[in-house]
Amino acid sequence: MRVFQKNSNIFNLLSEGVSEGIIVVNAEQEIVATNTSAEEMFGYEKEELIGKPLDILIPKRYHHNHDAHVDNFISKSEKRQMGHGRDLFGICKDGHEFPVEAGLNPFELYGATYVMALIIDITERKRKEKELNHWARIFDESLNEIFVFDADTFNFINVNKEAQRNIGYTMDELLTMTPVDIKPGLNKPKFLKLIQPLLKDEIGKVDFETTHERKDGSSYPVEVHLQLSSMGEKKTFIAIILDITERKNYTEKLEKKVEERTIQLTEALATEKELNELKTRFLSLVSHEFKTPLSSILTSITLLGKYTQTEQQEKRDKHVNTIKNKVKYLDAILNDFLSVERLQSGKVNYNLESFPLSKIVNEVLYDSNMLLKTGQKIQYPDNIDDLIIQFDEKILELALSNLVHNSIKYSPEDSIIDVQVEIEKEKIVLKIIDEGIGIPKAEQKYIFNRYFRAQNALLSQGTGIGLNIAKQHLENLGASLEFTSEENKGSTFIVRIPKERNST
Ligand code: ADP
Repeated sequence: MRVFQKNSNIFNLLSEGVSEGIIVVNAEQEIVATNTSAEEMFGYEKEELIGKPLDILIPKRYHHNHDAHVDNFISKSEKRQMGHGRDLFGICKDGHEFPVEAGLNPFELYGATYVMALIIDITERKRKEKELNHWARIFDESLNEIFVFDADTFNFINVNKEAQRNIGYTMDELLTMTPVDIKPGLNKPKFLKLIQPLLKDEIGKVDFETTHERKDGSSYPVEVHLQLSSMGEKKTFIAIILDITERKNYTEKLEKKVEERTIQLTEALATEKELNELKTRFLSLVSHEFKTPLSSILTSITLLGKYTQTEQQEKRDKHVNTIKNKVKYLDAILNDFLSVERLQSGKVNYNLESFPLSKIVNEVLYDSNMLLKTGQKIQYPDNIDDLIIQFDEKILELALSNLVHNSIKYSPEDSIIDVQVEIEKEKIVLKIIDEGIGIPKAEQKYIFNRYFRAQNALLSQGTGIGLNIAKQHLENLGASLEFTSEENKGSTFIVRIPKERNST
């Protein structure tokens, strides 16, 4: 140690000039010299270090290891960097540990061996490394795809793992490619135009949607967020990519649903509109169609009161009949309107039951008798006595009475209304044949439209509802309604009821 001190002035001169900590130990690993940097680094005064074993500057857990290293090192007597492959730590006087980098330089002085350790406190470097690692991990582990490329050549510089995985190229392959190579719809001039505002610093970020093509040729929709950045002197672009396949699928599904709902809504609105129209029509019907029958009911009632004598019974009967007729007529139109409303709002409940066909036919024809004009006759079917039919009784009554009433209404006096029933293999067919005004050819196609009335029918009272609802109800129950007609000759309305659930 003495020998070393002899040269301490030269040592001091040299060692104070460097920023690294310098610690010189002899062959026994005793500290023989230190510089100020080393003293500050470890928090000791020089006197506290000189003559002390080097171990006081090394955390305990490394002692054993360290001795072996240094011994080995001294015996080999060569310059070397310490700590390759493992972290080295120093320990301060206050017990605080810190990472160091140490270079060992053995030398001989007056026959003795020494080692000069050059020590750098790398706390700050380690912190930066850690921070950098952290950012690198975020970059690499991000589930967004991140592409970094040169702003001049467009060559990719770095591409994170998720991007490599999804696009299917390795990093080495990507290093020779540019963004244009993975965007099938984009050529270089187009791409340049897209990024111009970024290069000119007009905006901070460009967002757009495009398609990326994988190495295997498949493609996927992406949302791109592009930003200008720099790597030292080099300008780079950072593209953060979101694979929006799922979102697109979801959006498509959503659009489809919206479309469906819109259709449903439009339909509901149309129904609503029709129901509203129905209300309007109903009010106009009440104010027009009801007036005539009601006033004739009123007249009949007034006259009835005047026929007080016994022999005037015939006259009384006539007026009672008129009243009955008119009331039935009003009742029928009201029923038709209620039917439209029910059909329209889907609130129809059918009631299938077995009954003799003759029951309904007789009832309808009997009631219709009262409506007959002078000389008009109804011809009854003669072959239905034993015919049991399974159908909705009310609907059959509604349809048949509408058809027979029309025949009476649209036929002249002294004409015949013929009601026939034919039994076919699979159907029971009802025909109502008249010799009336018929339906003009040009208007026949509209005859089942709601509220439609042919030109030649306008002189008679009517609503244009009866045929429409009769047809709808019949069809809902698997039956059908058709007609043939010739103007001024007559019409035949035909109801076909399936027989399969009917027995004779
Ligand atoms: P309404 O008789 O109340 O007008 P309908 O729905 O029963 O309504 O009939 C619609 C139209 O069909 C009638 O206005 C008429 O033009 C025509 N029509 C129906 N039945 C006959 C018939 N037997 N002869 C001639 N025209 C008819």
